[in-house]
Amino acid sequence: MTHANLIGGEWIRGNDAVIDVNPSDTADVVGEYDRASAEQVDHALDAARQAFPAWARTTPQVRADLLDKVGTEILARRGELADLLAREEGKTLAEATGEVGRAAQIFKFFAAEALRVPGERLGSVRPGIDVEITREPIGVIGLITPWNFPIAIPAWKTAPALAYGNCVVLKPAELVPGSAWALADILHRAGLPAGVFNLVVGRGSVVGEKLVSDPRVDAVSFTGSVPTGRGILERAARRGAKVQLEMGGKNPLVVLADADMDTAVRVALDGAFFQTGQRCTASSRLIVEQAVEEKFIAGLTEAIRKQVVDDARKQGTTIGPVVDQSQLDQDLRYVDIGKQEGAKLALGGERLNREKSGFYMAPALFTGTRNDMRINREEIFGPVASVIAVKDYDEALAVANDTSFGLCSGIVTTSLKKAAHFRRNVETGMVMVNLPTAGVDYHVPFGGRKGSSYGPREQGRYAAEFYTQVKTAYVMQS
Ligand code: ADP
Repeated sequence: MTHANLIGGEWIRGNDAVIDVNPSDTADVVGEYDRASAEQVDHALDAARQAFPAWARTTPQVRADLLDKVGTEILARRGELADLLAREEGKTLAEATGEVGRAAQIFKFFAAEALRVPGERLGSVRPGIDVEITREPIGVIGLITPWNFPIAIPAWKTAPALAYGNCVVLKPAELVPGSAWALADILHRAGLPAGVFNLVVGRGSVVGEKLVSDPRVDAVSFTGSVPTGRGILERAARRGAKVQLEMGGKNPLVVLADADMDTAVRVALDGAFFQTGQRCTASSRLIVEQAVEEKFIAGLTEAIRKQVVDDARKQGTTIGPVVDQSQLDQDLRYVDIGKQEGAKLALGGERLNREKSGFYMAPALFTGTRNDMRINREEIFGPVASVIAVKDYDEALAVANDTSFGLCSGIVTTSLKKAAHFRRNVETGMVMVNLPTAGVDYHVPFGGRKGSSYGPREQGRYAAEFYTQVKTAYVMQS
């Protein structure tokens, strides 16, 4: 089966296609997905621009009904979509099922948000005048998404964009076009007017670049790597486009001496290694008070040994493969770098062979590391974590904040006082107490500080900051 791009309400064939390969079994081709040519991206941008005035004027009820319908279909097809997602990305079926459910809930959440677009009315400081502050759609939004959440990230950008009356051109990551295509098909059949949502599969340097540079795109929302994000920011800023970026993390998880050790191990295992460590919110720096260092390492090592790394869709698998060869090469390279820097590899870090040929890697735990090592400075984006021992809470907080990133952080402690101090003083956009750094709700803001993020928050009601623009109206009363 071929999969064309959705442009102006029609499925348009491309000249060449992306081959979507299963990272659990490289002999398994998930599908072929046409790449959009530069002219076809042009066509999509024209279609989105043309559709915008009418779409912006639709009633909230029309938008709410459409988004709700999309959420309902995603939920109804949850098993099938999760299977596709696990097959093309390599997260386990349980993880993929969670992600698909989340995508559905996001559409349902924003269906309701379309009905309560916020506004304000104030009295004027001058007599006889009313002041009304309203939020209006921006126009055409270019969405550029990464491979690690193939349906949830397209959903959490598309749903608010449409809810607030914008048109969308989505470019998904080339490694995982299948889930985005399925989403486009659902949106199309839900009855969105032609051009309101467009899917253009293609290379970042061609299709992505065009969405960033073209004046027909009013705003760009991007999730991906730091260097790509920085480049997008510069190019978009040059032409004054609104930009929102979600990039990397080097998220600290602090384990204090008073922590419940079972909780600490469970939280660290999940945060560092589930979803193969391929989450921007993954816990990669495990900052542990010396007094419990040995106990924590023993517990975590034992827990890692129990993990089953295998085919993402096989019953019993707890950790799927790495997404592709180049990511696997990067993960293995960082394992070498860690060893060269003098970190001790407690376990894992090697390529694994399984029944099928896939990108399998044993979860790696480094101990005896320092925060200034490259493995603790740079985002690896794989199943690799480091233990950094510290003498006390104050040093733990200082190490947690000594990073160029600021997405998420966590602390495991039974001290209310230290948990409260950490919440207030850690320099991240999100903070977890006795919970893994990864795994967030869909109805509250998501985003970071420092080098991790740029622009307004995503998700929840805070998404309105990015997907709307404010108008202040002064009206003479008579
Ligand atoms: P990852 O490591 O997740 O692949 P990238 O930042 O390379 O991170 O990719 C994230 C998204 O950005 C993908 O959809 C990719 O195609 C796109 N992209 C890559 N390079 C560019 C670029 N120069 N301009 C716009 N988008 C790009």
